[in-house]
Amino acid sequence: MHIHTCLSPCGDWGMSPKKIIEKSLEKNLDIIGICDHNSAENIEAVIKAGDGKGIRVIPGMEICSKEEVHILSFFETLKQALLMQDYVYENLPGKNSPDMFGYQIIADENDEVAGENQRLLIGATTLKLSELVDKIHFLSGLCIASHVDKPVFGIISQLGFIPPDLPLDGVEISWRTKPVEAMRQIPDIKKYPLTVSSDAHFPDDIGKVITRFFMAEPTIDEIRQALSGKNQRRTEV
Ligand SMILES: [Zn+2]
Ligand SMILES: [Zn+2]
Repeated sequence: MHIHTCLSPCGDWGMSPKKIIEKSLEKNLDIIGICDHNSAENIEAVIKAGDGKGIRVIPGMEICSKEEVHILSFFETLKQALLMQDYVYENLPGKNSPDMFGYQIIADENDEVAGENQRLLIGATTLKLSELVDKIHFLSGLCIASHVDKPVFGIISQLGFIPPDLPLDGVEISWRTKPVEAMRQIPDIKKYPLTVSSDAHFPDDIGKVITRFFMAEPTIDEIRQALSGKNQRRTEV
């Protein structure tokens, strides 16, 4: 649910649409989430690269709030993700320095370079966490706090706690910590549905850790039900 492409400045050049699909199939994944930093520009290419291959590509984005908290957003349609991207771009200052942060490659479904993104995608938006969560929900998306166990750019590392009135749909634990251990270290997260994901920046990271979703079809609505354990839907981490 948390895979970066070559569009993320920290994403390996090898994280091209075709390669991501190929690696995901190799790992028997049938749902993947594409979540580049503050951008949704490579999602369409990954969707097209996976077309007809029995894999559902969920449009997403990993957005950095004003408080430097990373949050994952997931949408049913590419259109919704692109509307979220508009909102993020309007509130994302700065220009990328490829020498300092890395190149931000826009690719097509044949792994050809289609362009380069000039924005400072690694930077923080000027949007408060609560504003981001509200906008994601306004666009009918799901909102999951990224890598809460990570010492940087997580909601716990940045704020020290999860604001009780923040309507998160779940929290993500990285590959670094086992879920049981994470719940022991951060008791706050027990109140939320948990996911684990690879946060893959390199092809070999894909599928390193996974969340299983038990549901009828790979839609955002079903994922929402699985996260909250409704109607016999559930997750397993
Ligand atoms: Zn992150
Ligand atoms: Zn990430």
